[in-house]
Amino acid sequence: MSTSRIFVVTGSNKGIGYGIVKALCKEAGNDAVVYLTARSVERGNEAVKALNKLGLKPAFHPLDVDDASSIETFANFLKKEHGGLDVLVNNAAMAFKNAATESMAVQAKETIRVNYFGLQAVCRALFPLLRSHARVVNVSSCVGHLSKVPGEQLRSTLASPDLTEQQLDDLMTGFVKAAGDGSHEALGWQNSTYSVSKVGVSALTRIQQKQLDADTTREDIVINHVHPGYVDTDMTSHKGTLTIEAGAAAPTYLALLPPNCSSPRGEYVWHDKRLVDW
Ligand code: NDP
Repeated sequence: MSTSRIFVVTGSNKGIGYGIVKALCKEAGNDAVVYLTARSVERGNEAVKALNKLGLKPAFHPLDVDDASSIETFANFLKKEHGGLDVLVNNAAMAFKNAATESMAVQAKETIRVNYFGLQAVCRALFPLLRSHARVVNVSSCVGHLSKVPGEQLRSTLASPDLTEQQLDDLMTGFVKAAGDGSHEALGWQNSTYSVSKVGVSALTRIQQKQLDADTTREDIVINHVHPGYVDTDMTSHKGTLTIEAGAAAPTYLALLPPNCSSPRGEYVWHDKRLVDW
């Protein structure tokens, strides 16, 4: 079994995830194995080839965060091949375009399923494999800020230090159900499924840090959520002002936080590495 440090970046065949893999291949050191993962083997291999042309050598494994068996296969592979992992960057996500013709019900169902429950499923499968001093980065967004939620009562529920993962799951499921009949705004939600999904990711991160802190089998596991900036990718229809290298900078910094760092820890970090009160 390898003694290498194992890095995993979800949804990294293009965009910010690709930029994170590129930066990690350069910065993570000689003992690092960096997994570029993608739901499409073809697109993943193309991305690996592009990095090979730059002299970089990421490993590849298929991973569809929206497919339980794909996640399980990858977790089993990591366990067998490496015995665990050291860094997980949950970057994969989707967003409907403003001009999308799908109903709010369909958009809510799909976006929350991939961006919130997909990320959570990856965490549930891979967290047991995290080694001491592991670093996890949940890629959120500026629209994952709590202030995007209009309902005061809902905001205080989400911000509560007592919020459980099950309660958060129920809130996400409740949003999807309400979006189906147009009652989500009456419940205090914003009218953007993508924003709700990222609020969910950010709220989840805070819960996950507490769970990891309570786990006495391993030490010093740190998880943060990050707004990577407004980045020139397919998701923003290339309107973003930052390059993918600039968008990858903060997630990469969080992935490479040194052992036993006290901060940031369970924090909301901006693209310029500033800590923002969630
Ligand atoms: P892109 O759309 O360019 O890339 C998204 C990546 O996620 C692609 O590799 C895509 O794969 C992958 N993906 C989507 N669904 C799945 C899935 N089910 N399983 C595995 N991979 C999947 O987006 P960005 O690079 O812009 O975004 C990266 C992250 O940054 C996202 O979490 C996004 O929400 C966040 N973000 C982006 C901002 C920006 O300005 N760009 C701003 C704030 C946050 P495929 O090619 O197969 O579709």
